[in-house]
Amino acid sequence: MQHPGLWFEDGDLVLVANTACAQPISFLIHRCTFCKSPVFRRILLTNDFNFHPIYKDAIVWEVTDPAADVAVLLQCLYYDLPFNHAEPTVTVDLGGLLRLCKKYEFAEITARIIAQLKHEWPTSLAIWDIHETRIRTLSIAHAGAPDGQIDAQYLDNRLPEPASIIALAREFALPELFPAAFYALALVSSSANYDAFHADFLPESERQQLANGTRSARWPLLTPPDLLRLAKGHDRMRSQKSLTRALASSQRPQTKDCAAGCTSLLTALRELGDHTHDILGALTYLRLYISEPGQASRMKICAGCAKALCDASAALRLQIWRSLPEWFDLTGVELTA
Ligand SMILES: [Zn+2]
Repeated sequence: MQHPGLWFEDGDLVLVANTACAQPISFLIHRCTFCKSPVFRRILLTNDFNFHPIYKDAIVWEVTDPAADVAVLLQCLYYDLPFNHAEPTVTVDLGGLLRLCKKYEFAEITARIIAQLKHEWPTSLAIWDIHETRIRTLSIAHAGAPDGQIDAQYLDNRLPEPASIIALAREFALPELFPAAFYALALVSSSANYDAFHADFLPESERQQLANGTRSARWPLLTPPDLLRLAKGHDRMRSQKSLTRALASSQRPQTKDCAAGCTSLLTALRELGDHTHDILGALTYLRLYISEPGQASRMKICAGCAKALCDASAALRLQIWRSLPEWFDLTGVELTA
C-alpha cells in the first residue's frame, strides 16, 4: 500500500515498512533525503537492491521498522518536527521516533526531540510553571465545555501521558525527565487506565471520568522499581503535615495592622493541604488567589500577612520542587529554580 502523503513521483527510493495487522506501507522518497543517515549511506554502499517494477529509477529497501514511526520520521525529514515548545507532543509517539533516529543516526533530529522532551518534563521550576499554567488554563476551558470536550477532544487527549515518558526516559537514559514525569504520574488515579480511556468502544464510566477532566496513565509500562518509587513519592505528597507546618512557621506575629482574618488564615491553609495532592499546583493557586486585587480585604487579612503568605508559598514551592528527586527516590538528578 502506498502512503498517501509521502509518495513523491520523482523519488528514487521505495521504503517498505511493516504494520502490525495490515499490509506493508510503501514510501516513495529521495535517497538524498535519507542520506542524512550515516547508517543508510553505509547500507547503500554495501548492499544490492532490486529496482521497483514501475518506478524504474527507484530501488526498493525493506525495513523492519514500524510504518507509523517511519512516517513520522519522514515527515520530520521532509517538513518539520510535529511539535514545538509552545505545543507539546500528544499524538506523536516520541519513543518510536527517537528509536528510529538513534538507529539510523539522525543526530540533529535526535537532539531536537531530546530538547523537546527536556522542555516538556523540565528540571527547572520556571519551565514547570509554564506547563502548570497551560494545564490549568486547559482544565478550566474543558471543565466549562459541554461534555468536557473541545473540538471533540477530552482534556486527557490534549496532555502528554507520563508513564510512557518514564519508560522512554529509562530506555534512552534521560534521567532528568524522571522527577517531573513521576510528579505528574502521582496525580493520576491508579484506576484510570489509558487503554480503557482511549479504547474504540468507550464504557460509560470511563466516558464520564473523561468528561470530568480525569487524567489517565499507561500503568502497564511501569516496572516494579518505578512502582516503588511512585509509592514512596505518594507517601511524601500525602503527608501534608510538612506543608502546613512550613506555612505555619511562615506566619508572622500579629501586628497592629492585622485584621480579623489574619488569625484564622492557618485553618484555611490546612484545608488546602487536606484537599489536594498537587502541592505545587495548590501553592501556585494560593499565591495567585491571595494576590488578586481586593482579595486580602475580602478575606479580612492585612496586606502584610497577605504578602508574607505569598512569599512563603513561593519559597515553599521551590523547596518542594527541589525535594522531588528525594521524594521519588531518584538519585543524581538535580532540580533548579
Ligand atoms: Zn496580619
